[in-house]
Amino acid sequence: MYTQKKLKFYSLRNIDQIPQLQKLSEEERFAMKVVANVLPFRTNNYVIEELINWDNIPDDPMYQLTFMQKDMLLPRHFNKMADILKNNSSPEIIKRTANKIRYELNPHPAGQLTANVPLMDDEPVRGVQHKYRETCLIFPSAGQTCHAYCTFCFRWAQFVGMNDLKFATDESNQFQKYLKEHKEVTDILITGGDPMVMSLQKLKLYIEPLLEPEFDHIKNIRIGTKSLAYWPYKYVTDKDADGVLKLFEKIISSGKHLAIMAHYNHWIELSTDIAKEAVKRVRDTGAEIRSQSPLVKNVNDSSDVWAQMWRTQVNMGIIPYYFFVERNTGSKHYFATPLAEALEIYRNAYIQVSGLNRTVRGPSMSAAPGKVAIEGIAEINGEKVFVLNFLQGRNADWVKRPFFAKYDTKAIWLNELEPAFGEERFFFEDELEELFYNNSLLKNPIKKEEEELQEYGAA
Ligand SMILES: *Cc1c(COP(=O)(O)O)cnc(C)c1O
Ligand code: SF4
Repeated sequence: MYTQKKLKFYSLRNIDQIPQLQKLSEEERFAMKVVANVLPFRTNNYVIEELINWDNIPDDPMYQLTFMQKDMLLPRHFNKMADILKNNSSPEIIKRTANKIRYELNPHPAGQLTANVPLMDDEPVRGVQHKYRETCLIFPSAGQTCHAYCTFCFRWAQFVGMNDLKFATDESNQFQKYLKEHKEVTDILITGGDPMVMSLQKLKLYIEPLLEPEFDHIKNIRIGTKSLAYWPYKYVTDKDADGVLKLFEKIISSGKHLAIMAHYNHWIELSTDIAKEAVKRVRDTGAEIRSQSPLVKNVNDSSDVWAQMWRTQVNMGIIPYYFFVERNTGSKHYFATPLAEALEIYRNAYIQVSGLNRTVRGPSMSAAPGKVAIEGIAEINGEKVFVLNFLQGRNADWVKRPFFAKYDTKAIWLNELEPAFGEERFFFEDELEELFYNNSLLKNPIKKEEEELQEYGAA
């Protein structure tokens, strides 16, 4: 059974009020604060009370998912921040030190800030990313936070205020105007942070206009959200809950498909009564729920965890969608898993589930040229290779043209792979470079060319 809960957030400011943390030593709590001064920390009473098994910390996957661990910072970064805090430095100095460290953590992976932002009348359209022809991403400004922060989050930079203004859109009609002019867009993905932190009223401001006839070309509305896992009350007992479900029904009766792109990292998130009820209620509106997650060390780096998660999802009517490789940002040294290992975890989970579960695609890297999946390992003319494939490409024509990289047990990202068979470059690289150089955003002041190219190298 579930009961109503009132959302209570915990952050660095009130971390000492979390009773369960009293189990930790003074030193461990200090280490947590050191990290939380650099990377964003937030959790809530549901995660603490219902998802974490406090008899199993620090190994508990839900604990690892939202609570900072000492090793999430590199020793030199950790020591620097620890010294600053021990010296009772001023907030100003703490902040400056934090920002310095943050800039060393690749805060904007895969050209997110600039390369994907479209132009309209020569001006960047705020809060919109349009990388793949059919699908446009919208970042509502009121949805740039989450019900809790994942320690691995690839969007962490926006939670510490590094890019919020450049990134988000208000409810003004800029993005609507852009969508009206782009009839090739069939899907919009409202994302964040988590757009489902928004009030019903805000959510309506973004969604309802899109149900008008001038947006007939938009067939599918997707909402990317972690709320089903971190705050299922949103759909069950919160004040707005029934209104949210009514809005979902309205979208569907307007003739559009509504896909809730749910972030689930572990089957534990599906196991509580409130989580099950939320899924049921959302599904009852006619919305489909599709699930995605990266592979996260100490959270779900086990084939059995994935297999059980997919089976549970399919049983609940959720469609497994993406298995991601964690991006090269933030605590990547902590979370990084070699591609070879990611493939093994994926494959060993995939082979133990039925075809209904095998809608999941991966392991996929969201890199600068597109979503690249590692399809498998092969031996061709005596050379061991990774078989790679674009699931999405900056140029749609790159999709489904298998290509090959030298097998490598250590590589963790696309830029670390080398073309197989002695070739100089991957087939898409020349064109990608050209796409980047011709991108007029390169002339935009918010864009740093070097960063972008490094980025390509890096992503
Ligand atoms: C993943 C992604 C999409 C959606 O791709 P689908 O394969 O249609 O789910 C759209 N835009 C960006 C930037 C993405 O990373
Ligand atoms: S829910 Fe998504 S955006 Fe929010 S903290 Fe987790 S990974 Fe980041």
